[in-house]
Amino acid sequence: MQKNIIEEAFPETLKILSELIKFKTISGTSNIDLIEYCEKKLEVLGAKSFKTFDDKKLRANLFSTISGKKKLNGEGGIILSGHTDVVPASDNGWTSNPFVATKKNDRIYGRGSCDMKGFIACTLALAPYFSRQNLKKPIHFSYTYDEETACQGAPVMLRELKNRKINCSICIVGEPTNMKAIQAHKGCYEYSTHFTGLAGHGSAPDKGVNAIEYANQFINKLMELRRELKKREPKNSVFTPPYTTLQIGRIKGGIARNVIADQCTVDWELRPVVFEDGVFVNQIIDKYVNDILLPEMRKTYPESNIKKEVIGEIIGFNKEEESEAVNLICNLTGDNSKDVVSFGTEAGLFQELGISTVVCGPGSIAQAHKIDEYVSFDELKLCLKMLIDLKDQISN
Ligand SMILES: [Zn+2]
Repeated sequence: MQKNIIEEAFPETLKILSELIKFKTISGTSNIDLIEYCEKKLEVLGAKSFKTFDDKKLRANLFSTISGKKKLNGEGGIILSGHTDVVPASDNGWTSNPFVATKKNDRIYGRGSCDMKGFIACTLALAPYFSRQNLKKPIHFSYTYDEETACQGAPVMLRELKNRKINCSICIVGEPTNMKAIQAHKGCYEYSTHFTGLAGHGSAPDKGVNAIEYANQFINKLMELRRELKKREPKNSVFTPPYTTLQIGRIKGGIARNVIADQCTVDWELRPVVFEDGVFVNQIIDKYVNDILLPEMRKTYPESNIKKEVIGEIIGFNKEEESEAVNLICNLTGDNSKDVVSFGTEAGLFQELGISTVVCGPGSIAQAHKIDEYVSFDELKLCLKMLIDLKDQISN
């Protein structure tokens, strides 16, 4: 019976995945056509949907609910969550066009095939099946924009979910994990700090304000904090390394050896194991900037400035002692290995709303963001099987 359903849904999954790959939904560009495609597919099944948008209405999130044959009040539903954006891909280096799905060796190649349009395709292919069942709890489809650029879309959708008082009990984030249950990941905070000083002749350093030199002091302070973070390692941390890390990724500043640099930018990141570490670092570094560095710079040049640009703050996804969502996936897949990963997802955002959350989806993170990204047929079939079994848990 179940095998038949998989055999039936699988060609449809491939067809949908091919269509999804064709939408060039690179983060920061419009995903509206893709969202409308998904919306229509769910609409004909009687799904109730709402959309939320970015400020310019260029990008949309879709939240859509299928209640099956009965009328349900929406309580306790299960969210199947996927992001619709992909990282950029140029034709260079790819064996085939990244935005044309290519089937080869029981794999489907294309940008987003594993991260994470494969999961979205599985959920859409089974939506007609879900809609025919006597569900006890609704199934929600959450498709967001701009996850790859620090989860900008999901918070907009979640705010509306809260406004509408839609209470969901479980969320499955279908990022590529080879269908294993992932129970935690670190946060990922990204910043650019911009220093503006005063240019001048290199022979008279005291007459200018050297942005690079202040950036250097700033970096030294961050390195001091990095040592502090190690000492703050929480007991029983599930991560490797077990403490919050801090790293400088790029410095850009100055124009020539003999010119005082009036501009410098430091790109840095923080990967908190606990939320408090993020607060700790930001409070101390902000205070250092405002109380020490800025007054010093402004003594010589009052218009000197230091500005912190928040690129994104993906909050961590914390391990729960008894996670309903993680246990559910382990039951469905028969695989009890509960793992942690080092990449960020939207999971922490759903968890923050009190929804028990797990990350589990088809494909491997090793293929994500890479040239010749692919997802294997087997992984897609395992995902279909998991979703069909999920239906059995919530229907009569
Ligand atoms: Zn992803």
